[in-house]
Amino acid sequence: MSREPSISVTAQVKPSGQLRISLQALRETGRGEILGRHFATGEPIRLVCEAGRISRIEPFAGAAPGTWLAPPLFDLQVNGYGGIDFQQDNLSVDQLLSAVRQLRADGCARFLLTLITDDWARLMHRLASLRRLRAQSPELLYAVAGWHIEGPFLSPKPGFHGTHDPALVCDPAPRHIRELRAVTGADPVLLTLAPERAGAIEAISLATSLGIKVSLGHTDASAETLERAIQAGAVCFTHLGNGCPSELNRHDNILWRVLDTPRLPVSLIPDRIHVSPPFFRLVHRLLQPRVCYITDAMAAAGAPPGRYTLGRLELEVGPDQVVRRPGSPFLSGSALRPIDGILRAAWMLGCAWQDVWPRFSEFPASMIGLECHLAVGQPSDFCVLRSQTCFETQGV
Ligand SMILES: [Zn+2]
Repeated sequence: MSREPSISVTAQVKPSGQLRISLQALRETGRGEILGRHFATGEPIRLVCEAGRISRIEPFAGAAPGTWLAPPLFDLQVNGYGGIDFQQDNLSVDQLLSAVRQLRADGCARFLLTLITDDWARLMHRLASLRRLRAQSPELLYAVAGWHIEGPFLSPKPGFHGTHDPALVCDPAPRHIRELRAVTGADPVLLTLAPERAGAIEAISLATSLGIKVSLGHTDASAETLERAIQAGAVCFTHLGNGCPSELNRHDNILWRVLDTPRLPVSLIPDRIHVSPPFFRLVHRLLQPRVCYITDAMAAAGAPPGRYTLGRLELEVGPDQVVRRPGSPFLSGSALRPIDGILRAAWMLGCAWQDVWPRFSEFPASMIGLECHLAVGQPSDFCVLRSQTCFETQGV
C-alpha cells in the first residue's frame, strides 16, 4: 500500500457549529482498499485500487458508518494558494508544489491555474513559463489540469472590471485566440471574456472551434448579446454576483439578464462574502442544476491573515477572510478553502454537504471536458471525510 500525500484538515460550519468534518485527500498509487459510505448513495462500500486506478467498488456491510468517500474537489478558478501567487513571474517548482499540496490538503486535487489580465505578451509569456514548470513534475501535471485565462477581454466600465486593470483590458482578435491555443497545446483552457467587446462573438466561435471553452464574465452585456455568445459556443458565466458594481439598476442589470437566460450555467463563490445567502439560494432555485462552485482563491487562501500580492496588486486579508485592496471596500479574489466552500454552501442552502459536493467536483470538471467521479476506471484519488456532530461555536 503506498499513499501520497495524506493530510487531514478539520473544518467547521458556523454559525451552527454543529458539524465538524475531518478530511483526508488520499491518492492511492499502488494496490489497496478503503471502506466507507458512498457520498452520493450513502451505501457502505469497499473501494479497491490497483495501479493508480479504482478497480472495484462493491457493497460492504462492515464499512464504518461515519466515514464517507467522495471524489476530490475540482476548482475552475485558482489565482494562487497557501501564500503563493500564481501571477508572479519566476515562480519555482517548489512554490507551485507547495500551493498544489495545500490545495489538496483542503480537498481540491485538480484545478485550472488562473491568470488574470495583464499585457497580452506578458500574459502569454507567463503562461508558457508555468506550462514548462508544470512539465517538470508528474504531481504538477496531474494537479494543474489546465488553465483559466480571465481577461484581458473584459468590460472597462467601473465596477465591471473589478480587480482587473482597466488600462489593460482590450478587444479580442483572432490572433489572440490562436496564440492562446498554440501556447497551451492540447491542455483544457477556459477563457473568461465580456461578449460585448468588439470581435468577441467571433472570438468565442474561433475559440470553441479550437477546443477552448469560453465563459462570460466582468460584463454588462445585453440579453441579446448574451444569447449570441451562447449560440457562438459560450458554456458558462463566471462568478455570478461578482465582477459587477455593488449598486445596480433594479429594473435591468446583468444579474437579471443572466438569470433570465436559459441554458447558461454559472459559477458562484460559496463563501457567504462574495454572494449573499438569499441570492445564493435564489440562484440555485432558478438555475438548478446549472450551478457550480469556484473559490477564485488568491495567495491568502489557506494562509494566515496579512498582506499578499495578486500580480501587481497588494491586497489585505483580515481575520474575516475578506480580501480587499487596502483602503477600498471592494472585494478582490477570495481566501476561501475549497472544503470550507462546500460546508458554507450546504449551510446557506440548509442541506447536507453530500448534496452540494458534485457542484464542486463532477460538474465543473465536466464543463471543461474532464471527469471527476467516484467510479471504476477513475484515478484512485478521493476524499475521505469523517463527520461528527458537535456543539462548539468557534471555527470559521
Ligand atoms: Zn473575476
